[in-house]
Amino acid sequence: MTSLSLKNVSKSYGSVEVLRDINMDINEGELIVFVGPSGCGKSTLLRMIAGLEKITGGELEIDGVVVNDVPPAQRGIAMVFQSYALYPHMTVYDNMAFALKLAGKSRDEIDKAVRAAADRLQLTAYLDRLPKALSGGQRQRVAIGRSIVRDPKVFLFDEPLSNLDAALRVATRIEIAQLKESMPESTMIYVTHDQVEAMTLATRIVVLHGGNIEQFGAPLDLYERPANTFVAQFIGSPAMNLLDAKVAATGAQTSLVMSDDGHADVPIASLDSDKGAAVKLGVRPEDLTVTDSDDFLISAEVEIVEALGETTVLYFRPKDGASALIAKLPGIHKIARGTSIRLTAAPEKLHLFDSEGQSFLYR
Ligand code: ADP
Ligand code: MG
Repeated sequence: MTSLSLKNVSKSYGSVEVLRDINMDINEGELIVFVGPSGCGKSTLLRMIAGLEKITGGELEIDGVVVNDVPPAQRGIAMVFQSYALYPHMTVYDNMAFALKLAGKSRDEIDKAVRAAADRLQLTAYLDRLPKALSGGQRQRVAIGRSIVRDPKVFLFDEPLSNLDAALRVATRIEIAQLKESMPESTMIYVTHDQVEAMTLATRIVVLHGGNIEQFGAPLDLYERPANTFVAQFIGSPAMNLLDAKVAATGAQTSLVMSDDGHADVPIASLDSDKGAAVKLGVRPEDLTVTDSDDFLISAEVEIVEALGETTVLYFRPKDGASALIAKLPGIHKIARGTSIRLTAAPEKLHLFDSEGQSFLYR
Protein backbone atom coordinates (compact mmCIF):
# COMPACT_ATOMS: atom_id res chain seq x y z
CA MET A 1 0.00 0.00 0.00
CA THR A 2 1.22 3.48 -0.81
CA SER A 3 1.94 5.33 2.36
CA LEU A 4 3.24 8.59 1.03
CA SER A 5 3.06 10.17 -2.37
CA LEU A 6 4.74 13.30 -3.70
CA LYS A 7 3.40 14.76 -6.93
CA ASN A 8 5.45 17.52 -8.60
CA VAL A 9 6.41 18.87 -5.22
CA SER A 10 8.58 21.97 -5.38
CA LYS A 11 9.88 24.54 -2.97
CA SER A 12 11.02 28.11 -3.45
CA TYR A 13 12.29 30.64 -0.97
CA GLY A 14 11.28 33.86 -2.70
CA SER A 15 12.67 33.60 -6.22
CA VAL A 16 15.14 30.83 -5.30
CA GLU A 17 13.87 27.37 -6.22
CA VAL A 18 15.51 24.75 -3.99
CA LEU A 19 13.43 21.70 -5.04
CA ARG A 20 11.91 21.09 -8.46
CA ASP A 21 9.10 18.71 -9.43
CA ILE A 22 9.83 15.96 -6.95
CA ASN A 23 7.79 12.83 -7.71
CA MET A 24 7.84 9.64 -5.65
CA ASP A 25 5.60 6.96 -4.20
CA ILE A 26 6.67 5.39 -0.93
CA ASN A 27 5.11 2.10 0.16
CA GLU A 28 4.01 1.23 3.66
CA GLY A 29 6.83 -0.42 5.61
CA GLU A 30 9.65 0.98 3.49
CA LEU A 31 12.77 2.63 4.83
CA ILE A 32 13.52 5.30 2.25
CA VAL A 33 16.81 7.18 2.45
CA PHE A 34 17.25 10.66 0.95
CA VAL A 35 20.94 11.03 0.23
CA GLY A 36 22.90 13.80 -1.44
CA PRO A 37 25.55 16.43 -0.83
CA SER A 38 25.06 19.21 1.68
CA GLY A 39 22.62 21.87 0.48
CA CYS A 40 20.82 19.68 -2.08
CA GLY A 41 17.45 20.05 -0.34
CA LYS A 42 17.16 16.89 1.79
CA SER A 43 16.12 18.61 5.02
CA THR A 44 13.79 20.95 3.18
CA LEU A 45 12.02 17.98 1.57
CA LEU A 46 11.75 16.16 4.90
CA ARG A 47 10.45 19.27 6.65
CA MET A 48 7.79 19.71 3.97
CA ILE A 49 6.65 16.13 4.56
CA ALA A 50 6.55 16.83 8.32
CA GLY A 51 4.57 20.02 7.74
CA LEU A 52 7.28 22.29 9.15
CA GLU A 53 7.85 23.98 5.77
CA LYS A 54 5.17 25.15 3.39
CA ILE A 55 4.96 23.29 0.09
CA THR A 56 5.09 25.92 -2.67
CA GLY A 57 4.07 23.64 -5.57
CA GLY A 58 2.56 20.19 -6.11
CA GLU A 59 0.83 17.83 -3.70
CA LEU A 60 1.79 15.63 -0.78
CA GLU A 61 -0.49 12.70 0.02
CA ILE A 62 -0.38 10.53 3.14
CA ASP A 63 -2.49 7.38 2.95
CA GLY A 64 -4.22 8.80 -0.11
CA VAL A 65 -5.21 12.12 1.46
CA VAL A 66 -3.70 15.43 0.33
CA VAL A 67 -2.14 16.95 3.45
CA ASN A 68 -0.54 20.13 2.07
CA ASP A 69 -2.59 22.21 4.49
CA VAL A 70 -2.82 19.73 7.38
CA PRO A 71 -0.85 20.94 10.43
CA PRO A 72 2.17 18.84 11.52
CA ALA A 73 0.53 17.38 14.63
CA GLN A 74 -2.32 15.93 12.58
CA ARG A 75 -0.22 14.21 9.90
CA GLY A 76 0.57 11.08 11.96
CA ILE A 77 4.27 11.76 11.53
CA ALA A 78 7.11 11.90 14.05
CA MET A 79 10.43 13.53 13.34
CA VAL A 80 13.84 12.87 14.92
CA PHE A 81 16.41 15.63 14.48
CA GLN A 82 20.19 15.59 14.34
CA SER A 83 20.31 17.87 17.39
CA TYR A 84 18.08 15.50 19.48
CA ALA A 85 16.04 18.53 20.70
CA LEU A 86 15.45 16.99 24.16
CA TYR A 87 14.07 19.09 27.03
CA PRO A 88 17.14 19.51 29.28
CA HIS A 89 15.20 19.94 32.55
CA MET A 90 13.08 16.79 32.04
CA THR A 91 14.08 13.21 32.80
CA VAL A 92 14.28 10.62 30.05
CA TYR A 93 10.87 9.36 31.16
CA ASP A 94 9.27 12.81 31.01
CA ASN A 95 10.89 13.60 27.68
CA MET A 96 9.34 10.47 26.22
CA ALA A 97 5.99 11.04 27.97
CA PHE A 98 5.66 14.70 27.02
CA ALA A 99 3.80 14.43 23.70
CA LEU A 100 1.40 11.85 25.15
CA LYS A 101 0.62 14.10 28.13
CA LEU A 102 -0.10 16.95 25.73
CA ALA A 103 -2.39 14.63 23.79
CA GLY A 104 -4.32 13.98 27.04
CA LYS A 105 -3.55 10.25 27.32
CA SER A 106 -4.18 8.52 30.65
CA ARG A 107 -1.33 8.00 33.12
CA ASP A 108 -1.53 4.22 32.58
CA GLU A 109 -1.44 4.49 28.81
CA ILE A 110 1.54 6.83 28.96
CA ASP A 111 3.42 4.59 31.37
CA LYS A 112 2.88 1.54 29.18
CA ALA A 113 4.01 3.31 26.00
CA VAL A 114 7.09 4.88 27.62
CA ARG A 115 8.22 1.62 29.23
CA ALA A 116 7.71 -0.35 26.03
CA ALA A 117 9.77 2.18 24.04
CA ALA A 118 12.47 2.30 26.74
CA ASP A 119 12.68 -1.48 26.70
CA ARG A 120 12.98 -1.59 22.93
CA LEU A 121 15.76 1.03 22.99
CA GLN A 122 17.61 -0.29 26.07
CA LEU A 123 16.84 2.86 28.02
CA THR A 124 15.00 1.32 30.98
CA ALA A 125 17.93 1.85 33.34
CA TYR A 126 18.11 5.54 32.43
CA LEU A 127 14.49 6.63 32.75
CA ASP A 128 15.16 8.85 35.80
CA ARG A 129 18.22 10.58 34.35
CA LEU A 130 18.41 14.03 32.83
CA PRO A 131 19.70 14.28 29.23
CA LYS A 132 22.98 15.86 30.37
CA ALA A 133 23.83 12.63 32.22
CA LEU A 134 23.59 10.57 29.02
CA SER A 135 26.04 9.81 26.22
CA GLY A 136 25.35 11.14 22.72
CA GLY A 137 24.13 7.74 21.58
CA GLN A 138 21.75 7.44 24.53
CA ARG A 139 20.37 10.93 23.89
CA GLN A 140 19.72 10.02 20.30
CA ARG A 141 17.88 6.90 21.48
CA VAL A 142 15.70 9.04 23.78
CA ALA A 143 14.88 11.26 20.81
CA ILE A 144 13.89 8.15 18.87
CA GLY A 145 11.92 6.86 21.88
CA ARG A 146 9.99 10.10 22.02
CA SER A 147 8.85 9.52 18.45
CA ILE A 148 8.03 5.82 18.95
CA VAL A 149 5.63 6.37 21.87
CA ARG A 150 3.35 8.37 19.62
CA ASP A 151 2.96 5.35 17.34
CA PRO A 152 3.16 7.42 14.15
CA LYS A 153 2.41 6.16 10.65
CA VAL A 154 5.61 7.67 9.33
CA PHE A 155 8.96 8.30 11.03
CA LEU A 156 11.26 11.00 9.69
CA PHE A 157 14.95 11.09 10.63
CA ASP A 158 17.17 14.03 9.69
CA GLU A 159 20.85 12.98 9.86
CA PRO A 160 20.30 11.34 13.28
CA LEU A 161 23.83 9.96 13.52
CA SER A 162 25.94 12.89 12.40
CA ASN A 163 26.66 14.15 15.93
CA LEU A 164 28.04 10.77 17.03
CA ASP A 165 31.63 9.58 16.75
CA ALA A 166 32.50 6.96 14.13
CA ALA A 167 32.20 3.84 16.32
CA LEU A 168 28.93 4.95 17.88
CA ARG A 169 27.58 5.83 14.45
CA VAL A 170 28.00 2.26 13.30
CA ALA A 171 26.44 0.85 16.50
CA THR A 172 23.48 3.25 16.34
CA ARG A 173 23.00 2.57 12.64
CA ILE A 174 22.62 -1.12 13.43
CA GLU A 175 20.15 -0.27 16.22
CA ILE A 176 18.07 1.75 13.78
CA ALA A 177 18.09 -1.18 11.33
CA GLN A 178 16.92 -3.49 14.16
CA LEU A 179 14.29 -0.99 15.25
CA LYS A 180 12.92 -0.94 11.70
CA GLU A 181 12.88 -4.77 11.61
CA SER A 182 10.80 -4.76 14.79
CA MET A 183 8.28 -2.37 13.23
CA PRO A 184 7.69 -3.86 9.78
CA GLU A 185 4.59 -1.78 9.12
CA SER A 186 6.10 1.59 9.96
CA THR A 187 7.27 3.73 7.09
CA MET A 188 10.54 5.56 7.66
CA ILE A 189 12.27 8.31 5.73
CA TYR A 190 15.87 8.85 6.68
CA VAL A 191 18.05 11.73 5.52
CA THR A 192 21.84 11.47 5.34
CA HIS A 193 24.77 12.75 3.30
CA ASP A 194 26.58 9.46 3.96
CA GLN A 195 26.22 6.94 1.16
CA VAL A 196 27.25 4.06 3.45
CA GLU A 197 24.30 4.78 5.76
CA ALA A 198 22.08 4.96 2.71
CA MET A 199 23.33 1.66 1.27
CA THR A 200 23.09 -0.22 4.57
CA LEU A 201 19.70 1.01 5.80
CA ALA A 202 17.49 1.70 2.80
CA THR A 203 14.92 -0.44 1.07
CA ARG A 204 15.16 2.24 -1.63
CA ILE A 205 17.38 5.29 -1.98
CA VAL A 206 16.51 8.70 -3.40
CA VAL A 207 19.65 10.46 -4.66
CA LEU A 208 19.11 14.22 -4.57
CA HIS A 209 21.36 16.78 -6.21
CA GLY A 210 20.72 20.45 -6.77
CA GLY A 211 17.01 20.16 -5.98
CA ASN A 212 16.36 17.26 -8.38
CA ILE A 213 16.05 13.50 -8.01
CA GLU A 214 19.00 11.97 -9.85
CA GLN A 215 17.79 8.39 -9.28
CA PHE A 216 15.34 6.47 -7.08
CA GLY A 217 15.97 2.78 -6.60
CA ALA A 218 17.16 -0.15 -4.50
CA PRO A 219 20.69 0.25 -3.09
CA LEU A 220 22.37 -2.35 -5.30
CA ASP A 221 20.45 -1.11 -8.33
CA LEU A 222 22.08 2.28 -7.88
CA TYR A 223 25.45 0.61 -7.47
CA GLU A 224 25.11 -1.68 -10.46
CA ARG A 225 23.09 0.51 -12.80
CA PRO A 226 23.65 4.19 -11.98
CA ALA A 227 21.55 6.42 -14.23
CA ASN A 228 24.19 9.09 -14.62
CA THR A 229 27.74 10.04 -13.67
CA PHE A 230 26.56 11.88 -10.55
CA VAL A 231 25.00 8.74 -9.02
CA ALA A 232 27.87 6.64 -10.35
CA GLN A 233 30.38 8.70 -8.40
CA PHE A 234 28.22 9.40 -5.33
CA ILE A 235 27.39 5.76 -4.53
CA GLY A 236 30.40 3.58 -3.75
CA SER A 237 33.74 4.44 -2.17
CA PRO A 238 36.28 5.19 -3.54
CA ALA A 239 34.19 6.76 -6.31
CA MET A 240 33.81 5.20 -9.74
CA ASN A 241 36.59 6.06 -12.20
CA LEU A 242 35.47 7.90 -15.33
CA LEU A 243 37.68 7.55 -18.40
CA ASP A 244 37.56 9.52 -21.64
CA ALA A 245 36.80 7.29 -24.59
CA LYS A 246 35.60 7.43 -28.18
CA VAL A 247 33.01 5.13 -29.75
CA ALA A 248 34.74 3.06 -32.46
CA ALA A 249 31.97 0.62 -33.34
CA THR A 250 28.27 0.51 -32.45
CA GLY A 251 25.56 -2.13 -32.15
CA ALA A 252 24.44 -4.55 -29.43
CA GLN A 253 27.97 -4.17 -28.11
CA THR A 254 29.91 -0.90 -28.17
CA SER A 255 33.63 -0.79 -28.95
CA LEU A 256 35.63 2.04 -27.44
CA VAL A 257 39.10 3.38 -27.91
CA MET A 258 40.58 4.96 -24.83
CA SER A 259 42.76 8.03 -24.88
CA ASP A 260 45.85 6.00 -23.88
CA ASP A 261 45.65 3.22 -26.54
CA GLY A 262 43.56 0.99 -24.31
CA HIS A 263 40.32 -0.34 -25.67
CA ALA A 264 37.09 -1.90 -24.45
CA ASP A 265 34.18 -3.86 -25.85
CA VAL A 266 31.26 -3.00 -23.64
CA PRO A 267 28.14 -5.20 -23.72
CA ILE A 268 25.87 -2.15 -23.85
CA ALA A 269 23.89 -1.20 -26.94
CA SER A 270 24.65 1.96 -28.91
CA LEU A 271 23.25 3.60 -32.03
CA ASP A 272 24.86 4.35 -35.38
CA SER A 273 24.70 8.01 -34.47
CA ASP A 274 27.00 7.33 -31.51
CA LYS A 275 29.91 6.42 -33.77
CA GLY A 276 32.86 8.74 -33.15
CA ALA A 277 31.18 10.30 -30.11
CA ALA A 278 33.20 11.25 -27.05
CA VAL A 279 31.85 9.24 -24.10
CA LYS A 280 32.81 8.38 -20.53
CA LEU A 281 33.61 4.83 -19.58
CA GLY A 282 32.92 4.13 -15.90
CA VAL A 283 34.72 1.45 -13.93
CA ARG A 284 34.69 0.99 -10.17
CA PRO A 285 38.07 0.78 -8.35
CA GLU A 286 37.11 -2.65 -6.99
CA ASP A 287 36.37 -3.98 -10.50
CA LEU A 288 39.86 -3.28 -11.87
CA THR A 289 42.46 -6.05 -12.05
CA VAL A 290 46.13 -5.97 -13.06
CA THR A 291 46.93 -7.66 -16.36
CA ASP A 292 49.97 -8.51 -18.53
CA SER A 293 47.86 -8.84 -21.64
CA ASP A 294 47.89 -6.45 -24.62
CA ASP A 295 44.14 -6.43 -24.18
CA PHE A 296 44.06 -3.76 -21.49
CA LEU A 297 41.79 -0.90 -20.50
CA ILE A 298 44.25 1.43 -18.81
CA SER A 299 48.02 1.70 -18.84
CA ALA A 300 49.52 3.98 -16.24
CA GLU A 301 52.24 4.64 -13.74
CA VAL A 302 51.41 4.05 -10.08
CA GLU A 303 51.70 7.29 -8.09
CA ILE A 304 50.65 6.18 -4.61
CA VAL A 305 50.19 2.76 -3.00
CA GLU A 306 48.06 2.33 0.12
CA ALA A 307 48.61 -1.14 1.57
CA LEU A 308 45.75 -1.73 4.02
CA GLY A 309 46.23 -5.46 4.31
CA GLU A 310 42.62 -6.23 3.51
CA THR A 311 43.00 -4.28 0.26
CA THR A 312 45.71 -2.51 -1.71
CA VAL A 313 44.64 0.84 -3.13
CA LEU A 314 46.58 2.15 -6.14
CA TYR A 315 46.41 5.76 -7.30
CA PHE A 316 47.57 6.38 -10.85
CA ARG A 317 47.22 8.77 -13.72
CA PRO A 318 46.72 7.64 -17.31
CA LYS A 319 49.31 8.73 -19.89
CA ASP A 320 47.22 11.60 -21.23
CA GLY A 321 47.38 13.17 -17.76
CA ALA A 322 43.63 13.13 -17.21
CA SER A 323 42.26 13.00 -13.68
CA ALA A 324 43.67 10.55 -11.14
CA LEU A 325 42.27 7.03 -11.12
CA ILE A 326 42.00 4.48 -8.35
CA ALA A 327 42.19 0.69 -8.27
CA LYS A 328 41.25 -1.29 -5.18
CA LEU A 329 42.76 -4.77 -5.26
CA PRO A 330 41.79 -7.38 -2.67
CA GLY A 331 44.59 -8.51 -0.35
CA ILE A 332 48.29 -7.67 -0.39
CA HIS A 333 50.16 -6.77 -3.59
CA LYS A 334 53.84 -5.89 -3.76
CA ILE A 335 53.63 -3.02 -6.23
CA ALA A 336 56.09 -0.14 -5.87
CA ARG A 337 55.47 3.51 -6.63
CA GLY A 338 56.46 4.41 -10.16
CA THR A 339 55.69 0.94 -11.56
CA SER A 340 54.02 0.92 -14.97
CA ILE A 341 50.97 -1.31 -14.91
CA ARG A 342 48.09 -2.31 -17.11
CA LEU A 343 44.60 -2.72 -15.78
CA THR A 344 41.50 -4.33 -17.10
CA ALA A 345 37.94 -5.16 -15.95
CA ALA A 346 35.29 -7.70 -16.85
CA PRO A 347 33.10 -6.30 -19.67
CA GLU A 348 29.91 -6.66 -17.60
CA LYS A 349 31.43 -4.39 -14.94
CA LEU A 350 31.81 -1.46 -17.34
CA HIS A 351 29.46 1.53 -17.41
CA LEU A 352 28.90 3.82 -20.36
CA PHE A 353 27.80 7.47 -20.20
CA ASP A 354 27.20 10.00 -22.95
CA SER A 355 28.78 13.45 -23.03
CA GLU A 356 25.96 14.78 -20.82
CA GLY A 357 26.71 12.14 -18.20
CA GLN A 358 23.56 10.09 -18.88
CA SER A 359 23.93 6.29 -18.77
CA PHE A 360 23.48 4.52 -22.12
CA LEU A 361 21.19 2.08 -20.25
CA TYR A 362 18.59 4.75 -19.53
CA ARG A 363 18.49 6.65 -22.83
P1 ADP B 1 20.42 19.72 2.94
O1 ADP B 1 19.58 19.28 4.09
O2 ADP B 1 20.38 18.78 1.78
O3 ADP B 1 21.84 20.01 3.32
P2 ADP B 1 18.66 21.99 2.90
O4 ADP B 1 17.35 21.38 2.61
O5 ADP B 1 18.92 22.40 4.32
O6 ADP B 1 19.84 21.08 2.35
O7 ADP B 1 18.82 23.29 2.01
C1 ADP B 1 18.60 23.29 0.62
C2 ADP B 1 18.82 24.67 0.04
O8 ADP B 1 17.80 25.54 0.49
C3 ADP B 1 20.13 25.29 0.45
O9 ADP B 1 20.70 25.93 -0.66
C4 ADP B 1 19.75 26.28 1.52
O10 ADP B 1 20.62 27.39 1.53
C5 ADP B 1 18.35 26.69 1.09
N1 ADP B 1 17.49 27.08 2.24
C6 ADP B 1 17.15 26.28 3.27
N2 ADP B 1 16.35 26.93 4.14
C7 ADP B 1 16.19 28.18 3.64
C8 ADP B 1 15.47 29.37 4.06
N3 ADP B 1 14.74 29.37 5.19
N4 ADP B 1 15.55 30.46 3.29
C9 ADP B 1 16.28 30.45 2.14
N5 ADP B 1 16.96 29.39 1.68
C10 ADP B 1 16.93 28.27 2.42
MG1 MG C 1 20.07 18.94 6.13
